[in-house]
Amino acid sequence: MSMIPIAKALEIVLQQSPGPKAESVALDEAVGRILAEDIIADTDLPPFDRAQMDGYAIRAADAASTPARLRLAGESVAGAGWHHEMKAGEAVRIMTGAPVPPGADAVQQVELTREPNGEGFVEILEPVEAGRSIVRQAAEIKAGETVLRAGEDINPAMIATLASFGYAQVKVGRRPRVAIMATGSELVDVGEKPGADQIRDSNNYTIAAYATLAGASVERLPLAGDDTEELKKQIKAAADRSDVLVTSGGVSMGVYDLTKAALKELGAEIFFEKVALRPGKPTVFARLGSTLVFGLPGNPVSVAVTFNLFTRAALRVMQGAAKPTLPEETAILARDLKGSLDRESYLPAVLRTDDQGTLLAEPLKWGGSSDFVAYARATALINVPAGLKLTKAGTKVKIVRVP
Ligand code: AMP
Ligand code: MG
Repeated sequence: MSMIPIAKALEIVLQQSPGPKAESVALDEAVGRILAEDIIADTDLPPFDRAQMDGYAIRAADAASTPARLRLAGESVAGAGWHHEMKAGEAVRIMTGAPVPPGADAVQQVELTREPNGEGFVEILEPVEAGRSIVRQAAEIKAGETVLRAGEDINPAMIATLASFGYAQVKVGRRPRVAIMATGSELVDVGEKPGADQIRDSNNYTIAAYATLAGASVERLPLAGDDTEELKKQIKAAADRSDVLVTSGGVSMGVYDLTKAALKELGAEIFFEKVALRPGKPTVFARLGSTLVFGLPGNPVSVAVTFNLFTRAALRVMQGAAKPTLPEETAILARDLKGSLDRESYLPAVLRTDDQGTLLAEPLKWGGSSDFVAYARATALINVPAGLKLTKAGTKVKIVRVP
């Protein structure tokens, strides 16, 4: 099977990923999930003409010349308004957030008034134009308006909207169940001291972290050695109880790269097994039964890049995201950068702005796809077209910010 372009690979991933199943969650569980329903305002906002200042509700015409002495007719506080017609020559003491009484057309702020103790009137010291410090009913939102849409990511700034329109329960996309399996006979778990020729597994933890961040519920499987029968057994068991299986390692050209063989022997449908991507060329995408399988490369930086380009997008489609892929932005390259002959690159970078406000992408100095310590500083990936031509500092480049 030949190497396919990144865009084609992504298209296949988006196509093969099933749409969302919805579930209801309590509002305080909703942040980070993806909306599975449109959110409709059930009230006007504000729900009544609302005072924006502490002061006095008056008729602006009554304070055309100042000081103006007005009879104090009552008091309107937040939670307990004064619901009578306010007549000419009258004022109502009012607090921020309280309803403005009918008949009043302005609120003069308390600093520009004087209320002598217990005399039943107030002096307005400065004129105020009609409408001042009143937010009219429905000025922000009308009942029945759609305020958020299915497919949007629920962030903390949206919680007030959900709460204010009564969404104690919110419909969101169900979390995909993701099983994660690192392969490689050299691997030991994080709690162990690596022996001769061994290294600690990091991919299982990296993938679990990114998958959790992408909304999945995650199960980390035991490490699998480079043995086709062992791989087949674990892959089969994982596929039976998960929506997505993400493996790492064992997909390049070595004699002990057995993940693909195991998948094929189990009868998996392989959609692609090489992508024109640096880092991340040997990325595999397959389906076993109804379980999607991502066979990511072994090198930790390749894992981070391929997960975020492909697996993250699949997990987001499965939760109903309107925008499943990392959004593309433009930045100015801060240092010359070399491409790869036959593959597009997504190279780790740090974003910063210069004193003109220009977004600059500074390529990380890194030792290649095994250099996870360098990658720990990355905030973005720079997209470099295929070909060995040097992309010069100062050139506009496409970037994606990485989680
Ligand atoms: P492979 O594709 O299996 O040949 O792995 C490529 C490189 O990534 C090798 O140096 C592996 O030791 C390393 N590697 C594979 N899996 C992991 C893992 N789970 N954690 C850390 N490094 C890994
Ligand atoms: Mg390996």
